[in-house]
Amino acid sequence: MSAATDNAALAPYAAREEFSRGRRYPEEAPQYRNEFQRDRDRIVHSNAFRRLVYKTQVFVNHEGDLYRTRLTHSMEVAQIARSIARALQLNEALTEAICLAHDLGHTPFGHAGQDALNECLRDYGGFEHNLQSLRIVDELEERYADFNGLNLTFECREGILKHCSLNSARKLGDIGQRFIDRRQPSLEAQLANLADEIAYNNHDVDDGLRAGLLTLDQLREVALVRMQLDVVQAKYPALQGRRLVHETVRRMINHLVVDVVQSTTARIQAANPQSVDEVRLQASYLVGMSEATRAQHLELKQFLREKLYRHYRVQRMTLKARRVVQALFQAFFDDVNLMPDEHHAAALLLQEREGEAGRARAVADYVAGMTDRYAIREHERMFVPGERS
Ligand code: MG
Repeated sequence: MSAATDNAALAPYAAREEFSRGRRYPEEAPQYRNEFQRDRDRIVHSNAFRRLVYKTQVFVNHEGDLYRTRLTHSMEVAQIARSIARALQLNEALTEAICLAHDLGHTPFGHAGQDALNECLRDYGGFEHNLQSLRIVDELEERYADFNGLNLTFECREGILKHCSLNSARKLGDIGQRFIDRRQPSLEAQLANLADEIAYNNHDVDDGLRAGLLTLDQLREVALVRMQLDVVQAKYPALQGRRLVHETVRRMINHLVVDVVQSTTARIQAANPQSVDEVRLQASYLVGMSEATRAQHLELKQFLREKLYRHYRVQRMTLKARRVVQALFQAFFDDVNLMPDEHHAAALLLQEREGEAGRARAVADYVAGMTDRYAIREHERMFVPGERS
């Protein structure tokens, strides 16, 4: 056990480094950090993490400086999850590591980019950002002399892979086994997953209002918003504009966090798991909201899907993103010589091993790794005559 571990604060059902299933390549224990802090630090130092600042959450980076990017989204997820982890006596460092890594595999242009790339790879195993996040931390990062990837702990990798198909699970070995056995991941992984939903539901309300694609009047239809808006307006009748929005959204987040802590505590008490392995054997997630709050949360999610993600201005971006991603993929897949040297070399290597599917995967790795602005520039270099190539 390393010096930085504070096991006294951990519940018996929390992940503990002394019971970790370890790293794929054994390493000496860190001196002044615990194993999960080391995971978190490796994620923060990775190239993929730095790219998140130029990747779209909902709004493309150049649409405005105040919108969430994948980076600020990931930090909000981590911040929400850490508060809950502490309240539940879970492993805070592991929770934080999973949250910071959860979107590393996202393509440029958010879900539009992922859907486009998935279509491009239809005949070659598809593209899924969760799997890509795992691929980045297991294979693609080149930072260490002794191994590819970041060599993270099993527990962190387990959390990053929040879902995958049975087909993929069979190829993944130990990390995919739980999908075949229908087991649960650690509570830290369950929490990271839920904090992701809480973060984006709430910050998308804020960003949607800022963009003028949503109005507070519209949002009054949604119980979760209306409840907090009523409280704020009763207490501060003169409050308007940004401050009214922020005061409402922060109360929405708080309401959800309190609900998650209370209902999860009740579920943990009822199930009474004495270790992470007992958590893994449960029939379902223990981390979650109460039924009533879950329904409100889903109502907001549905509202955002209809009114924000399907707004014509967001749809236009989606269409452009799709065209850029598909055009880049097709051009590089048809001629891997058009990719920069290291990606060209990776394509030849993977093609030798796995044929066309390998070539497609190497091209997908290149395209998925692009930031929004890099993809836009690369598209111009490839398709606009007169641009420097
Ligand atoms: Mg996310």
